Amino acid sequence: MNPPDTIDLRSDTVTRPTPAMRDAMARAEVGDDQYGEDPTTNLLQERLAALLGKDAALWMPSGTMANQVAVMTLARAGDEVITAREAHAGWHEVGAAAANAGVQIVEVGTAGKFTREQFEAAIKPAGLPVFPATTVVEIENTHNRAGGIVFPQDEVVRICTCARERSIASFLDGARLWNAAAASGRSETELAAPFDMVSVSFSKGLGAPAGSVLAGPRDSITRASRFRRRLGGAMRQVGILAAAALHGLDEHRPRLVDDHANARRFATSIANCAAVQLDLASVQTNIVVFHLKPGAPDAATVVAQARQRGVLLGAFGPRTVRAVTHLDVSARMCDEAALRLVSLLG
Ligand SMILES: *Cc1c(COP(=O)(O)O)cnc(C)c1O
Repeated sequence: MNPPDTIDLRSDTVTRPTPAMRDAMARAEVGDDQYGEDPTTNLLQERLAALLGKDAALWMPSGTMANQVAVMTLARAGDEVITAREAHAGWHEVGAAAANAGVQIVEVGTAGKFTREQFEAAIKPAGLPVFPATTVVEIENTHNRAGGIVFPQDEVVRICTCARERSIASFLDGARLWNAAAASGRSETELAAPFDMVSVSFSKGLGAPAGSVLAGPRDSITRASRFRRRLGGAMRQVGILAAAALHGLDEHRPRLVDDHANARRFATSIANCAAVQLDLASVQTNIVVFHLKPGAPDAATVVAQARQRGVLLGAFGPRTVRAVTHLDVSARMCDEAALRLVSLLG
């Protein structure tokens, strides 16, 4: 059992719907979404299509399914998808890109980012009968495993322009696009504009219990709807969840800057520990990824010891730990978590 004053910094997915969000869910108008008759889901899809600057948007039960459906829509089995290193699509989806879409992933760049030149160098030449076809480039913004970093928008534009010239489709895994917008001061519309398709999540910083949408050109969304059904993700009175997403958009999106400030305070407090290696420049949003120096205990040990002191963290590698701020942790709780961790690390 965790102590009663436990502070959970494992992920921004651990938030519970607030009473106001539950209220919005209880009041949601619903219908059968497989007949296109769920008014709340239709409203969410229309709002998100406009917000992301695309023709249409489609509800998805999870971001993991949104990513798979995007790749199934944009690529064929045997094709190649280029991503940044340690992208969610290659690392956190139990091989779904290969198992469900039949594609292979090629990772390029460093620290969650890559350049147009690195992208171009990785494209397999056309015309030789031995190469797989490179058909999709995917960017994750913010990039989770790189510490919630924001992908530089100038480079996004250069990469997507190059992709278009080479007839390669572009996809934005924007599970945390809200955080990228809050941190960069650019709108979601601007951040998504260079891409053919984009997914966003409601169950991270926005605090909803589930759900994502995938947005793009109308014909792509029509195809995506068939792939969603094939994966078993087509739902019925899903307006109950869409209402939570709409509530999160209106009520919780404006406060993401608080999560970012809390992450920075937490990171600044622990960065001076002798055991910790932490590049404060990588703390741009609500994620703090730090490394344990040689001689310090490993990540599993630190995570277990922190749990005993009522701080929940995630081991992200043998010597890498992740902490994430969110709706359910205040500035005071983040300060307290940092104090407990500093006293543990010495
Ligand atoms: C969480 C996450 C997803 C998947 O979302 P789920 O709803 O948890 O399946 C996809 N991409 C990134 C970058 C994420 O952080």
